[in-house]
Amino acid sequence: MDLAKPLKGKTAIITGSNSGIGLGVARTLAEAGADVVLNSFTDETEDHALAASIAEEFGVTARYIKADMSKPDECRALIEEAGACDILVNNAGIQHVAPMEEFPTEKWDAIIAINLSSAFHTTAVALPMMRAAGWGRIINIASAHGLTASPYKSAYVAAKHGIVGITKVAALETAKEPITANAICPGYVLTPLVESQIPDTAKKYGLTEEEAKQQIILERQPSKEFATTEQIGGTAVFLCSTAADQITGTTISIDGGWTAL
Ligand code: NAD
Repeated sequence: MDLAKPLKGKTAIITGSNSGIGLGVARTLAEAGADVVLNSFTDETEDHALAASIAEEFGVTARYIKADMSKPDECRALIEEAGACDILVNNAGIQHVAPMEEFPTEKWDAIIAINLSSAFHTTAVALPMMRAAGWGRIINIASAHGLTASPYKSAYVAAKHGIVGITKVAALETAKEPITANAICPGYVLTPLVESQIPDTAKKYGLTEEEAKQQIILERQPSKEFATTEQIGGTAVFLCSTAADQITGTTISIDGGWTAL
């Protein structure tokens, strides 16, 4: 095995990977030698250019496949079109914040579809491919909100607790096979999803954006530091290593101590 490229010859599909954590995980897996399939619901020149730049930088095959993770058929078609799936990273996710009595039904449905149901559909198609290949890794990007709750995030918290549950089921259904399923539970990571919440939070509390980050966003993260996409990617690479062969059906928190509170 090439120690610098331990994932050479493996194909990784990362849903929702033209930005943020998904892109960071795709880059780290490619750095470790994996061929990668990037995905989102858009089909822009920049999406394909991202894949091309990863291929060039890390000397791997990288493709971008458009598929809307809110649609079951497109979730399934993504895996089929990729043609191989040794490592499946279910990462696509959106957020909406509102009290339950005001939470729009269409936002609830979209969050459950993208953040939870998509992982069921992709996993269902990927598992036979992993069985045929004799090896597989399912890595679900859950959240600290998969283990604990916050007000006004009903759909997100429900979806993230759900993804922790489906991770355990996938692990039990593959327990006797060389396939593992685990969930990574990040605390706050400074990605577009979080950055978009900062101006409103600052305005709401009459703070500067920097104060809002430290005092409000990172309030529950005892380290007072954001986790990074590279740390999440590194954890994904670890979960693909032989050291992690017996780690299955569990969660790994990357949250600066949030869930220790
Ligand atoms: P992001 O907004 O930067 O990225 C979300 C990705 O999902 C993007 O690539 C977007 O294009 C894609 N996406 C959205 N809707 C889609 C759809 N219908 N079909 C396909 N792709 C779609 O956000 P992020 O912070 O990188 O979040 C990625 C994952 O990490 C999410 O599941 C999120 O819940 C989780 N997470 C994020 C944080 C954080 O602090 N940023 C913390 C814990 C968990």
